[in-house]
Amino acid sequence: MVEHRPYCGIAEAVENVKVAPKIWRLTLYTPEIATAAKPGQFVNIRASSQHDPLLRRPFSLNRIDRAKGTISVLYRVVGRGTELISLFRLGEKVDLIGPLGKGFATSHPRQNSLFVAGGMGIAPFFPLAEILLADKATITCLYGVRCADDLAEVSHLETIGVKVVTASEDGCGHYHGQVTDLLAATLRQEDFSLGFACGPHAMLSATKDLCLAAKLPLQVSLESIMACGLGLCLGCTCPKSNGEDYWHICTDGPVLWAEEVDFAWKR
Ligand SMILES: Cc1cc2nc3c(=O)[nH]c(=O)nc-3n(C[C@H](O)[C@H](O)[C@H](O)COP(=O)(O)OP(=O)(O)OC[C@H]3O[C@@H](n4cnc5c(N)ncnc54)[C@H](O)[C@@H]3O)c2cc1C
Repeated sequence: MVEHRPYCGIAEAVENVKVAPKIWRLTLYTPEIATAAKPGQFVNIRASSQHDPLLRRPFSLNRIDRAKGTISVLYRVVGRGTELISLFRLGEKVDLIGPLGKGFATSHPRQNSLFVAGGMGIAPFFPLAEILLADKATITCLYGVRCADDLAEVSHLETIGVKVVTASEDGCGHYHGQVTDLLAATLRQEDFSLGFACGPHAMLSATKDLCLAAKLPLQVSLESIMACGLGLCLGCTCPKSNGEDYWHICTDGPVLWAEEVDFAWKR
C-alpha cells in the first residue's frame, strides 16, 4: 500500500509535443503533484474519458517544475492508450493519480554517478540529474537505443552538464552495439560511486551483473504491466533475491536496489 496519499484528480495539459518520430512529451499543470514528486516516481494517466482503455497508463516523471507547478512525461506511442494521449490538446483536462511509487535514493555517496538507460528508460533521468548536479556530482549517462529515431533527451541532458555517451544497434551513436557492452567497456576504464539504470528487463539484468561484479551499488527502475499502481491489485510483483518473497513494483518500487531483485523472473 502507498505510504503517502497521492493526488487523484484533474490536471491541465499545457504542452504535448512530438520530440522524435514516435516519442512525445506531455506537460501537465498539477501543483499538487509537482510539489510532492521525487525523481523516479511515476504518474498513472487515464488515456480516455470513455471506459476504453479502462486502466490508467503509468509513466515516469520526466520533468518536475515546482515553481511552475508542472510535471512532464516522456512517452513512446506503442498502443491505444499512448495513441490517445498523443492526441491530448492544450487545455485538455487529464485524469491522473500521482506521484506514485518510491523514487531514486539520493542520500548515498554519488559524487561520480553513472546512469544506464535503454530506450524509454531515459525518461526519469533528467530530474535525477538536476538533483545530483546541484550537489556537485558528475554524471555519465550511457544511453542505448536501436536507431536514431529512438533518441530523445540527449541535448537536454548535455545542456545541464551530463556527459552522454550513446550506444546504438544501427551505428548512429558514439558506440556501435548494445549499451551493456558499452557499460562493460566503461566499467573497465573508470570507477563510479553510484549507478542508476532504467530500461528493458534484459538490459537491467545484465547491468546488475556487470555493476555487482565491479562492486558498484546500483538502483534499478523496473517496469511491469500494471493495473492499479496503488498496491491493491498485486499485478506487478517480482521476486526478491532472497527467493522467499515478492516486491510490488508499483509501491515498493519502481526503483529498487538491484541486489534485492531476482531478475530470473522474466527469463
Ligand atoms: C512504472 C512505469 C513507468 C513507465 N514509464 C514510462 C515512460 O516514462 N515512458 C514510456 O513511454 N513508457 C513508460 N512505461 C510504459 C508505459 O506505461 C506503457 O508503454 C503504456 O502503458 C502502454 O499503453 P498503451 O495503451 O499505449 O499500450 P497497450 O495497447 O496497453 O500495449 C501496447 C504494447 O506495449 C506493451 N506494454 C504495455 N504496457 C507496458 C509496460 N508497462 N511495460 C512494458 N510493455 C508494456 C504491451 O505488452 C503491448 O505489446 C512505464 C511503465 C511503468 C510500469
